Amino acid sequence: MTKLSIVIPTYNEEEAIEDILNRILAAKLELLDSVYRINEIEVIVVNDGSKDKTSEILRRYRDEIIIIENKKNLGYGAALKKGFDAANGEYIGFLDADGTYPPEFFKLLWKRLVETNADLVIGSRFLGEKTRMPFQRKVGNRLFAYILSWIVNRKITDTASGMRIFRKEILYRLYPLPDGLHLTPAMSAAALHEQLNIAEVPIPYEERTGSSKLNAITDGIRFLRIIINTSRIYNPLKFLGILGIFMIVLGLLLSINPISYYFQFRRVEDYQIYRLFTIMVLFVTGLNTITFGAFANYVLSMLHNREVNQNGFIGKYILSRIVLKKFNLIGWVLAALALIINYKTIIEFIMTGHIYIHWSYIITGATLFLVGVQLIMCSYLIQ
Ligand code: UDP
Ligand code: MG
Repeated sequence: MTKLSIVIPTYNEEEAIEDILNRILAAKLELLDSVYRINEIEVIVVNDGSKDKTSEILRRYRDEIIIIENKKNLGYGAALKKGFDAANGEYIGFLDADGTYPPEFFKLLWKRLVETNADLVIGSRFLGEKTRMPFQRKVGNRLFAYILSWIVNRKITDTASGMRIFRKEILYRLYPLPDGLHLTPAMSAAALHEQLNIAEVPIPYEERTGSSKLNAITDGIRFLRIIINTSRIYNPLKFLGILGIFMIVLGLLLSINPISYYFQFRRVEDYQIYRLFTIMVLFVTGLNTITFGAFANYVLSMLHNREVNQNGFIGKYILSRIVLKKFNLIGWVLAALALIINYKTIIEFIMTGHIYIHWSYIITGATLFLVGVQLIMCSYLIQ
């Protein structure tokens, strides 16, 4: 017995709802053809507090659809989640009520789900031949897809598509999902990080009937934030690693000048103290940030009882055990160097109570020692 539930969040869609319902009901009949092996399909419309004629129109369809009424407008994500809760099928599909997504394509999404044994099939508006998407949205959506693909190391073309089919049982791995229009990018990000089996199927995208509830700027920021926040939770090193590497590279760049000066004149000038302190702070905090990120990835893998997330360049190199072992060795070498540079001064200070050496030795020793200890600790902690 295979049952599919199709959920349609609807808010003030009097101009579009009738047409889309007719198309969905026709698509439903097609999907019930025996080749698809679906025994039953329910259509659930969540009327999200519409104030126009939507409710009236919906009532005319009450024999063919299940209607859930939200007294107040709760938002796209909230409406969808209500529909998911009410769904009785082991599979759930959803799309907008505005006529932008083609219900006729559910059968292709379904076919792909069955063929690839996918957990989630997304209708991609960027793989299809025709997309009537407003320009600024196209740019935003492309950017989000690009960012998420980079974060998870997997190509994904449409992060915010509102037409999908998925297995209901995966929901508990994706929740909590937000109430707003950013439910779709949140779902994509969580599903990718959960390493679910995801497929994309090309779909056309039409211009909307009626006006959109999406605000390009505030919703755009929400989309980006939810993608980054979800990713930060699953793979902290991806972000902390980049931040740390940036600081270390900056430190290295700032070092070029004092080092070449030293090799030319064999001395360190007093005015260079500001720069040398900055370099020390950049090296130490940069390394701190990276090792903290690496450690966070290990803690997460233990908490969730799965492989350490090593995706991405930094993850692969820093989290490999070989590099960690080297961290330990390099750490001891650096700490030893710090002592070699300064041990005479320490003994001298203990004997005479005075320090005669130039401050540059102390800063160099301090940097080497702090970085060294940090490397040793990181290696111990993770091993
Ligand atoms: N929607 C909803 N509640 C809301 C906002 C939107 O149920 O508070 C519905 C809306 O009727 C549509 C779908 O969710 O069917 C997506 O909204 P919209 O089409 O305005 O967003 P867009 O597709 O333009 O991002
Ligand atoms: Mg829409």
